[in-house]
Amino acid sequence: MENYTSKKSQNMAYIEPAPLLDKENPFEAMMSRFQTASQILGLEEQIYNVLKVPARQVIVSLPVTMDDGSIRVFEGYRVIHSTILGPSKGGIRFDPHVNLDEVKALAAWMTWKCAVVDIPYGGAKGGVNCNPRDMSSGEIERLMRAYTLAMIDIFGADKDIPAPDMGTGPREMAWLMDEYSRTQGMTVNAVVTGKPIVLGGSLGRTEATGRGVMVTSLAAMGKLKINPYNAACAVQGFGNVGMWAARLLEERGLKIVAISDLSGAYYNEKGIEINKAVQYRDKNKGSLDGYAEAQKIDGKEILTLPVDLLVPAATEDVITVANASKIQAKLIVEGANGPTSSKADSIIYEKGISVVPDILANAGGVTVSYFEWVQNRLGYKWTAERVNRRSDRIMKDAFDNVYRVASEYKVSMRIAAYMVAIDKVAKTYKFRGGF
Ligand code: NAD
Repeated sequence: MENYTSKKSQNMAYIEPAPLLDKENPFEAMMSRFQTASQILGLEEQIYNVLKVPARQVIVSLPVTMDDGSIRVFEGYRVIHSTILGPSKGGIRFDPHVNLDEVKALAAWMTWKCAVVDIPYGGAKGGVNCNPRDMSSGEIERLMRAYTLAMIDIFGADKDIPAPDMGTGPREMAWLMDEYSRTQGMTVNAVVTGKPIVLGGSLGRTEATGRGVMVTSLAAMGKLKINPYNAACAVQGFGNVGMWAARLLEERGLKIVAISDLSGAYYNEKGIEINKAVQYRDKNKGSLDGYAEAQKIDGKEILTLPVDLLVPAATEDVITVANASKIQAKLIVEGANGPTSSKADSIIYEKGISVVPDILANAGGVTVSYFEWVQNRLGYKWTAERVNRRSDRIMKDAFDNVYRVASEYKVSMRIAAYMVAIDKVAKTYKFRGGF
């Protein structure tokens, strides 16, 4: 197993990620890995030049009437990185920090993510610079409808299919679907995924990302010969991804010794009962603050605990040059997008720690979004068992493929995942031609 995780033990040709041009921002972090993988693949320069820039970037101004009668103008973005594999797919983020660089990086990540799990989508991402926590439901609805109308020529069930991201959820997707459908004179539920179940949302979508984290964790543990029944795990973030990953890993025999959220981290070496922690969180306004079944530790300490498996499932850039050398886990499975800075990659690799990278580990979500779209287009509903069985198979096959490439080229699974994705996109360009 070490033959693809440890440079020192195998004397392998490790290629340093390209240096960052600026301080770490999401676009540069993505480009650094993209450059490294392209270099190893020997990607033709023309194709590299096509893929390094988004296919389309749209910036719109969205005037919205606020509850006090004033009109506020929000800035909205939609970036389509690539549609070469199929309609572009990617969430919409409502957040005060949204900016074009971030949306560009996230759009490219979606291209690679869809390609790694071999689903027929390109990559896109959208965002609006707003703070939904300070807005009423009516204001958010008017903003979502304004954004949808501004993107009416961009979105489409065969063109560009949005989904929820930070600050948006099923409620916003229902408004998007409704606004889009009004302009078409018919109900078009396949234009967006992550909808409420009654509007054509898929069973199994809520837990899909955490479930994919569980499937890829077990697959990686199999390769590393870690017995789940003797394994300790720490999960950073106790939201949709972290909570489901923790719950499903616990069901598979792992001992979850630490969980965390914005209130801090909670450690119990005997194991935390996830269902009890969920009940506590749900009665405590969604926070683990005051959770007494475990010892409270500093939030950052969760990343450096002596565990077998570490699942960062909160936010980006938490594993950095500042803490990478202190990580004790044997395996990191990235539930969050971009939790490891590109500068920390080589430190982790040198330490012989295996990483199942974000574009593979958290692709269970987009996989079940794809199933939602397939069901909408079929006009048919699958059972949760069918959804889970098919997504588990896709995640396991994708893991095996990435692992094989990592072993063959003696690179980290992160670089291997980029190589698998870039190779697929590049081959498609070659067959389609048309420049
Ligand atoms: P969420 O909002 O449901 O949960 C986030 C959790 O992380 C919360 O418990 C929050 O308290 C905690 N958190 C935030 N910042 C933290 C910090 N600095 N330290 C500790 N805890 C912190 O979000 P989510 O949907 O679970 O998404 C988590 C990550 O997974 C994000 O990076 C997201 O982009 C990524 N992701 C989500 C999905 C999905 O289907 N939800 C799919 C792919 C990737």
